[in-house]
Amino acid sequence: MTASDPSLTTEITSHTSTPSERSQPAEVRELGSFATSHASHDHPLPSAPRTARDWGIEVDRVLISNPRGFCAGVEMAIKALVWMLRLCGPPVYCYHEIVHNKKVVEAFEKAGVVFVDDVSEVPEGAPLMLSAHGSAPEVVAEAERRGGFVIDAVCPLVTKVHHEARLRAKKDYEIIYIGHAGHDEAVGTLAVAPEAMHLVETRQDLDSLQLRSDRAGVALLAQTTLSHFDWQEILEEARTRFEDLWLPAREDLCYATTNRQRALIELARRCDAILVVGSANSSNTNALVRVAKAAGCQDTYRIDGADDIRPQFLQNARTVGLTAGASCPESLVEEVVDFLAPTQGATELRVIDEDEYFPLPPKLREALAERFGTLPDDRTRTAADALAELEDLEAPRASNGR
Ligand code: SF4
Repeated sequence: MTASDPSLTTEITSHTSTPSERSQPAEVRELGSFATSHASHDHPLPSAPRTARDWGIEVDRVLISNPRGFCAGVEMAIKALVWMLRLCGPPVYCYHEIVHNKKVVEAFEKAGVVFVDDVSEVPEGAPLMLSAHGSAPEVVAEAERRGGFVIDAVCPLVTKVHHEARLRAKKDYEIIYIGHAGHDEAVGTLAVAPEAMHLVETRQDLDSLQLRSDRAGVALLAQTTLSHFDWQEILEEARTRFEDLWLPAREDLCYATTNRQRALIELARRCDAILVVGSANSSNTNALVRVAKAAGCQDTYRIDGADDIRPQFLQNARTVGLTAGASCPESLVEEVVDFLAPTQGATELRVIDEDEYFPLPPKLREALAERFGTLPDDRTRTAADALAELEDLEAPRASNGR
């Protein structure tokens, strides 16, 4: 199966979700089958199985969740970094992994992006991109101070949480932030108002909280990519403890996280096993695994790609569900379908249609308009298109011996 397979594109309908629709019960429609092609599956090890059938495992059917994979924030960030490479040439520096996906990061590294965890590692004046997860204010300031062309590819939905944190802290609130310690997004958000923010990861963490009694109120904010179950559990407990609890008008869990989780719940009811494609450091991918298990499918496994599938994942699995985290390219999903080689084909289970689009950062748009005389059309160009361009960008670098 390839990205240009017509069975992928013909299934797109004109229905799109709005925020109000997203809170309605999901409409579930099973659509036409994917074609599978096993000839192109190319395993690195000669002895590695080409398909699950080589293990004597026969999968009847694969159900693929829709929506899955790249969200609007990831689309924007990947396209932005490819534009940076085209505008500035390699090396381009990037603070933190642009998105949490091993294959995407490796593709950028090959094309000349240098990922750093400290902006002090970036040479003065070098082009620098800040990742989609959002950066601490002091990191942004230091990046600017270094004097290069700096683009902040933070997702606007993370910026919204930063804004809420800044505003509530200014209004003298204590802020409970639900997130994962050490995750790039959580680190960046907590740094916005460190004096007012308290990280909690579990409901039990609320026990040890020490909030000021003279506060104006208690705000509850969250990392955008959490499992809805985890967030809800802490929210309910916080409501019982704090009469002065304040919540944002629109919850912090982002549309992509929520939509992928809702679609997966529908999938979990229909499958014997579920594979979630995405990297180990991807918060929303890990959340998907927890959601599928909570929805009743205990045989749910995270994989980076087809090479990670193990025979025991598929024992007694006639129908296998498949989804992907918000930073996972569709090509990895296609490889998994090819590997599973379902005898009755692969079917997409469409729950919600998405049409969110986030424009490139304003400073990058200005630079592009200046370089090309007009702003190139970004809406119709996908992140997959941009990633495909990376291979062309590698060639001149290699010939320059850089
Ligand atoms: S998962 Fe949500 S918050 Fe994160 S980049 Fe995608 S749209 Fe933005």
